[in-house]
Amino acid sequence: MKKIAYFDASVETPEEIILAADMVPVRLFGNPTIGIDKANEHIPPTHCVWARNILEQAINGLGNDIKGMVCTHGCDCTNREFDIWLECVNLDFLFFLNAPLKRNEISLKFFIDDIKELILQLEESFKIKITTEKIQLAIKKMNQIRELLKEISELRVDMKLKGSEFHALVKEIQQSDKDKMIEKLKLKLIEIKERKPFSDENLKKILLTGSVIDDTEFIKFLENVGYQIISDDLCIGSKYFWSKVNENGDPIKALAEYHLNKPIYSTKFPSFERFETLKNLAQTYNVDGVINIAQKFCEPVLYGHPYFNKKFKELGIPYLFVEMEYNRESYKQLATRFEAFSEII
Ligand code: SF4
Repeated sequence: MKKIAYFDASVETPEEIILAADMVPVRLFGNPTIGIDKANEHIPPTHCVWARNILEQAINGLGNDIKGMVCTHGCDCTNREFDIWLECVNLDFLFFLNAPLKRNEISLKFFIDDIKELILQLEESFKIKITTEKIQLAIKKMNQIRELLKEISELRVDMKLKGSEFHALVKEIQQSDKDKMIEKLKLKLIEIKERKPFSDENLKKILLTGSVIDDTEFIKFLENVGYQIISDDLCIGSKYFWSKVNENGDPIKALAEYHLNKPIYSTKFPSFERFETLKNLAQTYNVDGVINIAQKFCEPVLYGHPYFNKKFKELGIPYLFVEMEYNRESYKQLATRFEAFSEII
């Protein structure tokens, strides 16, 4: 089956449209084990290392089964990187989806129009027809995934599912055939429910937030330090299954509404509203602390940190902010900071 990649800092790409085109949507992730020399020829080394890492992979070639790429409006870094993709990446289909910065009636109309443009361009480029019925079917499929993931995610709280296992699962779904994943999730849910809870005596229960955190090894590293991530507001996490798309009425409008009604991203306006979501999650799950991770040079998350620091202090909720390099060697260097935070909470 043909695949369409998506480069998206905020998971606002309506995968349903790609599914309705009978193609597999594949989210692009970084690879912290590679060098990024070619990308560095195009982007200054003081720009987000994660976005540069993906450009490096794209310049080297994403594989024969990837037939195109959708770049969805995220942060300034990903948005402007699309210009470089147009020049340097060997793919015939490259589309910029303009998921709006603001959230109001005008933005909704704007987003609907741009999703329609994506449909038109997919139809013309691949000589296909994306029908309303196919989009409706894809919405049902994705909603099933969202529902299953939501249920599975709660098993982190019950100490039956490690945060790292859950993270790997969400990543796999974002890159795989959705029908196969629905079957896998159903079985996984039954299997995890039957597990005995692991001992949580010394584990600190954490709400994890921040940039795109796509290296599962990093989550395992946090676990080795003594944390269990029981909640998150990550794009490889709860932002992917926060709510469901309305299955009635115009499906394109429903998709646009779904993405504009999710908790706001650090990349969108007004980003300080993110704090309300984090506060509610921290209080609902009664976490021991909040960890906010910025990928090196991730401006949206760096801008958000001083506000979060102040607000969490006011609430008396322990909060740790860490800016990290995108390579595994650097995780070890951060161990002392995470250990120290674990000791004080
Ligand atoms: S990690 Fe931050 S700077 Fe990098 S792509 Fe994501 S939002 Fe943009």
